Amino acid sequence: MSLSYSILASGSTGNAFYVESENHSFLVDAGFSGKQMETLFQQIGRDISKLSAIFVTHEHSDHIKGIGVLARKYKLPVFANEKTWRAMESSVGEIPTEQKFVFQMESVKSFGSVDIESFGVSHDAAEPMFYIFHHEGKKLVLITDTGYVSDRMKGTISNADVYIFEANHDVQMLRMGKYPWNIKRRILSDVGHVSNEDAALAMSDVIGDRTKRVYLAHLSLDNNMKDLARMSVTQTLASRGIIVGEQFELYDTDAKIPTALTAV
Ligand SMILES: [Zn+2]
Ligand SMILES: [Zn+2]
Repeated sequence: MSLSYSILASGSTGNAFYVESENHSFLVDAGFSGKQMETLFQQIGRDISKLSAIFVTHEHSDHIKGIGVLARKYKLPVFANEKTWRAMESSVGEIPTEQKFVFQMESVKSFGSVDIESFGVSHDAAEPMFYIFHHEGKKLVLITDTGYVSDRMKGTISNADVYIFEANHDVQMLRMGKYPWNIKRRILSDVGHVSNEDAALAMSDVIGDRTKRVYLAHLSLDNNMKDLARMSVTQTLASRGIIVGEQFELYDTDAKIPTALTAV
């Protein structure tokens, strides 16, 4: 059996990603309350208590809201790098020491035949990092919450079978929108979030002959729309000679509804 995954929910209001192999299952981030996380798991027919581990990307609340509750209630091991542990300590509350694990940036942890690789991103958090799941020659990349995609990141994430890729905002909507200027500047900065267009430009450099599915994730509630993100990414990719639907498909994610469990 290969790796399967569901984007449980993704957007500026909260993020949670589920991945499983035949013997293990993993949660990356829990940006919702414990109750909401339980509902999301019910919707994909999976059991939180069976999780092998939770991985944390960074300490922003849309990624860690449910971490403490789930860790305590289900006695789950939680992995994060040292700086993230320190930064989220006060928000997640007490987690027993034996459930706290350090997972440094640019390292690999193995659970049976699944290798989980961490890599750094450019975002205004203590030490933000995302994850690549490797299993039987397949590669699933998760990358949101980055102000840009560096050449180093591109090298690490290139030619994956599946991408869960941030398409945070439409630059025009953000500029015209209601956010105060300092927030707009933060989002547009190198340590903010990638726009639809910048996401597509980065995708055009990393999509390879193995790529089958790309999911647009972490859409801003106020500064983006699914159709706009899809159109903008499709057009930008086309301008680089990459045609959606020819070799790979582009999918939406939802801020509240999980994507169906899908094999990589
Ligand atoms: Zn963030
Ligand atoms: Zn976020």
